[in-house]
Amino acid sequence: MSRIRGADTRPEEAVRGLLRSLGFRPQLNRRNLPGVPDLVLPGRKLVFFVHGCFWHRHARCRYAYTPKSNVLFWRAKFRANVARDRLVRVQLSRLGWRVVVVWECELRLFDRLRARMRNAVKRQSARRQSRPRQPSV
Ligand SMILES: [Zn+2]
Repeated sequence: MSRIRGADTRPEEAVRGLLRSLGFRPQLNRRNLPGVPDLVLPGRKLVFFVHGCFWHRHARCRYAYTPKSNVLFWRAKFRANVARDRLVRVQLSRLGWRVVVVWECELRLFDRLRARMRNAVKRQSARRQSRPRQPSV
């Protein structure tokens, strides 16, 4: 059984395994970066956040429902989460990082997610082509 597909694997671990299977060695939880991204590819200036659909409000996702009780509490909570996420994305992009958000529900369509991740990394390396030295993959 493939380690990265394990049902009880934490989502961050699953995405880490996916990046490793594409030949990358992501760093974990870089505390010196805004928002402490889950995974970082420093050579490509790419950061990854693995977001739970419920807490981070994945648009049009069935897991991003609002509980029926304490509605005002939940709305305020969700608004704060989304605002924080937005601020962190702005801060990171000002520092020259490209931000990739992986939603937890995407792990259910693993092959599609794998293709998206591969494209994200490829696009980023194309953008940085002018660098004299490419990081090894
Ligand atoms: Zn979702």
